[in-house]
Amino acid sequence: MFGERIIHAFEAVKDAFDDLRASFFPGFFREVDFPRAATGAQPARFAGRHSEPLQFNAKCSSVPDNVSKSPADDKSVRRAVTKAQLRAGVRLQTGRSFVLIVDAETRTEAPPNPDVTPSVRASFDAAHFETAKALPLPPSLPIFRGIAAYSRQDPSRPLLIVGHTDAVGSAESNLMLSDDRAQACAAFLKADAGAWMRFYAHPQKSHQWGVREDQIMLSALPFGGTPYFAGPIDGIAGRQTDDSLRKLQNNQGLTANGKPDNQTRAALINEYMAAEGTRVEAGTSIQTLACGKRHLEVNTQSANAQNRRVDVFAFDTAPIKPLPADCRNGTHPGCTVYEAWKKEVKGPIPVGGDNPPPKAGSVLKGKITYRDGTPAAGVPLIVELPDGSKKGGTTDAGGNYRIEGVEGSAKLRLVDGLSLAEDPAHPGQQVVAVNGGGAGGAAGETGTAVA
Ligand SMILES: [Zn+2]
Repeated sequence: MFGERIIHAFEAVKDAFDDLRASFFPGFFREVDFPRAATGAQPARFAGRHSEPLQFNAKCSSVPDNVSKSPADDKSVRRAVTKAQLRAGVRLQTGRSFVLIVDAETRTEAPPNPDVTPSVRASFDAAHFETAKALPLPPSLPIFRGIAAYSRQDPSRPLLIVGHTDAVGSAESNLMLSDDRAQACAAFLKADAGAWMRFYAHPQKSHQWGVREDQIMLSALPFGGTPYFAGPIDGIAGRQTDDSLRKLQNNQGLTANGKPDNQTRAALINEYMAAEGTRVEAGTSIQTLACGKRHLEVNTQSANAQNRRVDVFAFDTAPIKPLPADCRNGTHPGCTVYEAWKKEVKGPIPVGGDNPPPKAGSVLKGKITYRDGTPAAGVPLIVELPDGSKKGGTTDAGGNYRIEGVEGSAKLRLVDGLSLAEDPAHPGQQVVAVNGGGAGGAAGETGTAVA
């Protein structure tokens, strides 16, 4: 199989396919550029307006009829590939240069509205919060992980977190609750423990955090270990809760008095917010918007779980159009801002990672450069774990990769078979061994210690 490279796009990745579909309205092309491997210019990479790489997969499938197997026939290679074919996979030969322009089947989609910034969206639903409370419950973690992973791909994308309630209750208290939840989610993504401390002193008694929230977090921690607290979540302080606080305090180097003082609660929040992979890059723009019952998902005045939600929009570009302030200060009913954003949502943000999250320290990370020191950006890679399973990833714009849930001695290799070598100039970094692929283009593998 050497001498062949395979693009296998979006197999079994439903959400990614939605993202793909959304990316191809007219005028938006994704180019897949395969430079000459034989002359060793660079590994396969993707260029175009959308920075997300296509998924590589080692499984191959048939060559679509309209993709030429003759690389010399440039025009035919450039012919469009259908969605179905993309889904089925495309196989190309190496040793040649290909440019594949995908522009198929989606010409009928409406053109983007220039007055609305496109986005992708994640949503927390009623099950991710307790009644009247803002604490994102442990099942929220994979959603945060997905949002953070998406955001880290391009931290210039502005995030907007929009809280909603159902129509039961006063407008004021619903606005307050939706604001609390949006703020709590924003704080989680930034690991801003101080922002959560204020919930323990919430002016509204029914919204105030206490022993119950302590117990929820203590039950989820330490991640990957035996929970500090294994008792019922009843909000009643007692010996079991005190003991669990002592365990936390011991772990964090605090005085083990078993009391939920401010220092202990800050430590508890910090540990909860440290859930692997849930943090966005520093400087990421995160705005919040409280909508209360202004923008119902289901048009009913009754209690409705679908209306109790928090949306997280990751917009393509800043500034967000229309401005969140236009909704905040707008007339309700009548405000069309939220509906406008919703209409331009391209797809969901995939939920990320496993639950429970990987143990601390089980992250494989590093940097891959070309020989000249240029970061190898957007390079798909695979880590083979000791148990034979595999995890995939892609380097970011700086050539950095980060793969969670890696234990023991893992092997890292590039999906397209180019070999990797330790970079003698930069210990711990790896360099793509271009021009040195060896006879038959044997895939380079290198044993890599877990960070
Ligand atoms: Zn509005």
